Amino acid sequence: MLLSKLFIPILKNNPSEAKIKSHQLMLRVGMIKQSSAGIYSWLPLGFKVMKKIEEIVRQEQNKIGAQEILMPTIQSSEIWKESGRYEDYGEEMLRIKDRQNRDMLYGPTNEEQVTEIFRSSLKSYKSLPQLLYHIQWKFRDEIRPRFGVMRGREFYMKDAYSFDISDEEAFYSYNKFFLSYLRTFKRLSLTAIPMAADTGPIGGNLSHEFIILADTGESKIFTDKRIFDLNSNDTELEKNSLRQMRKKYEKYYSVTDEKFNKEEFEKAVSEENRLITKGIEVGHIFYFGDKYSKAMNASVDLPGGKKDFVKMGSYGIGVSRLVGAIIEAKYDDKNEIMKWPLSVAPYDIALVPMINKNDTAALDKANNINKELIKNNIDALIDDTEENFSSKIKKMNLIGAPYQVIIGKKSDGDLLEFKETGKQTQNISLKKIVEIIKKQKNSN
Ligand code: ATP
Ligand code: MG
Repeated sequence: MLLSKLFIPILKNNPSEAKIKSHQLMLRVGMIKQSSAGIYSWLPLGFKVMKKIEEIVRQEQNKIGAQEILMPTIQSSEIWKESGRYEDYGEEMLRIKDRQNRDMLYGPTNEEQVTEIFRSSLKSYKSLPQLLYHIQWKFRDEIRPRFGVMRGREFYMKDAYSFDISDEEAFYSYNKFFLSYLRTFKRLSLTAIPMAADTGPIGGNLSHEFIILADTGESKIFTDKRIFDLNSNDTELEKNSLRQMRKKYEKYYSVTDEKFNKEEFEKAVSEENRLITKGIEVGHIFYFGDKYSKAMNASVDLPGGKKDFVKMGSYGIGVSRLVGAIIEAKYDDKNEIMKWPLSVAPYDIALVPMINKNDTAALDKANNINKELIKNNIDALIDDTEENFSSKIKKMNLIGAPYQVIIGKKSDGDLLEFKETGKQTQNISLKKIVEIIKKQKNSN
């Protein structure tokens, strides 16, 4: 892609309305454009990043055997009246009337919708377990939409739902999602810590929030530092190893403020290991048993002729919030350098030819390099403008491709001036560059 052709309305300075760095950067490089409070259009750069995050989320859902569906954004109020949440949900729910004067709503979440699909389709325990998910826009009329995509009113969420025959089987499903979340956030190059959480209006009693540390986060957390040293290299989907994996995390006290208890915290964590800080909630999982299946009469036939309500859990990831969360974690706002992890970067590499008037040699060279990169599935952004060197680099640093090649005097012959963002420049061949990027891509 040529920079001169890219739809990217870059601003010289940070927009004054943005208070946190992710919101600043997203507006500054034109990843999003506000349409009204908490509602955004996604422009090419931002959309590309979000779609890459979505794809990683999808792959990790598929790996644990969840099946993708797509439910509508607009739902009928009938099912919400059945579950009892039509009244409870309050003003966060955007309520709409259709031309027949029927009460409709823009879905803030999908427990009711998916329970309705389940109960009208499956009747036997033999069809269980079922793990279903979709990735769809949600609407919550948040009282204080702010921080750009971090707290939007319209936002993009992956929400999954599990259906099981018993509590024990349901915990197994829960643990699969627990593992899948650890893997997902790791691939996004984020350290997300599972914390025991309150279930809020969803209901139930088992719940974890996945939180990344950030001063600008809206969740207050109380945790044992040592939880950060755990790694999630677990791959086994077998029941017992999943149980062990969750235990490994639950050994360390780590809760959000609704669950916080000073006495318990001080008893469980020695002074030097206590960490009280703020974080961003990027995912949330719940087990709520038969709360919805009972209210909405979603049961299955058991062996022996009895019936029982199906046991359910739900599992959310804030896909659009993650775009902002990754920026909060990776943007060096002092030096104005964005370091996207390669797995979600809008471009893999930036090619910066030093172009003088009437001399196209450097640009020709960049175009030739690009041909080789395309053959290797490496997505490059070429700065074909005639701006001066420092403003070119400034711009590329904001866009944040993880690798840069400068094509100027030092890139003579076969050796290219190559740089990984934030590291030393090295002179290496194109072949070597391709190898480095491919290796990094394969490791994800
Ligand atoms: P919060 O506590 O931040 O309001 P929540 O607990 O209400 O979030 P859930 O119902 O658990 O949210 O939704 C699942 C995920 O969707 C959250 O973990 C978060 O990543 C994302 N999310 C929730 N609300 C918003 C929002 N207003 N804007 C962007 N993402 C959101
Ligand atoms: Mg939540």
